Amino acid sequence: MKSKLALVGAVLCALGATGAQAALTPFVQKVEARISSPAGFTWDVSYEAIFDGSSLVKHVEIDFLFRDVLGFTPAQKTAWKNDAEMAIESIWNDKYRIVDTVNGRSFALAVDVTQEGYPRPGLPNVFDQAVTVLPQPGDCASRPNALDCRDNMLNWFVDSSDTIKAHEFGHMIGLYDEYVGGAVDKLNNATLSDDGLMGLGALSDAPAFYARYFQSYVDFLNGVPLAEYQRLAGSGLQPGQFVLVAVPEPSTWAMLIVGSMMLGFGVHRARRA
Ligand SMILES: [Zn+2]
Repeated sequence: MKSKLALVGAVLCALGATGAQAALTPFVQKVEARISSPAGFTWDVSYEAIFDGSSLVKHVEIDFLFRDVLGFTPAQKTAWKNDAEMAIESIWNDKYRIVDTVNGRSFALAVDVTQEGYPRPGLPNVFDQAVTVLPQPGDCASRPNALDCRDNMLNWFVDSSDTIKAHEFGHMIGLYDEYVGGAVDKLNNATLSDDGLMGLGALSDAPAFYARYFQSYVDFLNGVPLAEYQRLAGSGLQPGQFVLVAVPEPSTWAMLIVGSMMLGFGVHRARRA
C-alpha cells in the first residue's frame, strides 16, 4: 500500500515535469512588429525567435548593400559583412542567461546575424532588414549632430565602430534609443543612459549591457501578452517562471579561475609541506 502511494506520487511528479518540459519544446517563431518612438521615429522589427532547448536566439537576416562610390570588390564586401556579423554577435552574446526557476535549468541568450536570407522556392531569398553601407559625408566634423552624419538602423557608415553596429542592431530587435535626440521610448522621463549600448555608451568601446535589453526574451518565455508574443499567452507557463541572470564579465571569470588555481596551488603546497 505504502509503495503504491509512493509510486503514484512518482508518476504525478513525472507528469508535472513532463508538463513543464512540454511548454518548452524547441520552437521557431517569426516576430514582426512596428516600433514607434514618440520622438518621431518609426521602424520595423523582424526576426526569428529560435529556441533549441539550450538557447534562445534572435535570428536576423541582413541584406548588406554597398554604395558603388565605395568601389568595393566582391571579396571586400564579403570581408566587411563577415566582420560586421562577428562584431555584432561577439558584443551581444554571453551577457545574460535565463534561469528557469521551476526546474533549475538555464538557457543562453544570443543573437545570430546571417547574410543569406530566407530561401523561397523559385524566388529571391527574403531578408529581415536591408542595410546600406555608405561613406560618411566629409564635412561631418563640423556638424556631427546632423541626421545625415549619424548612422541609423538602415544606413551604416563604412568606417563606423563595432559598437555603433551593435547599437543599430539593437533597434532591429526592438530596442529604443536611450539618449536625448534619439528614438526614445517616452517623451517625458525617457529611459536614458550615459554608458549603455543603446545610450551614449555606443560611443565607447565597452558599453554597459542592461537587463532591459534582454527583457523581451524573458517575456517571450513567460508568455507575457505583449502584442507580438500573444501566441504564448495561456501556454500554461507559470508567471515569472523565467528570470534574467547576468553572465560574469570575462575579467571576473579570469579572476575566479586564477583565484581557484591559487587556492589549489596553496592546498597542494600545504600537503607537500
Ligand atoms: Zn539608435
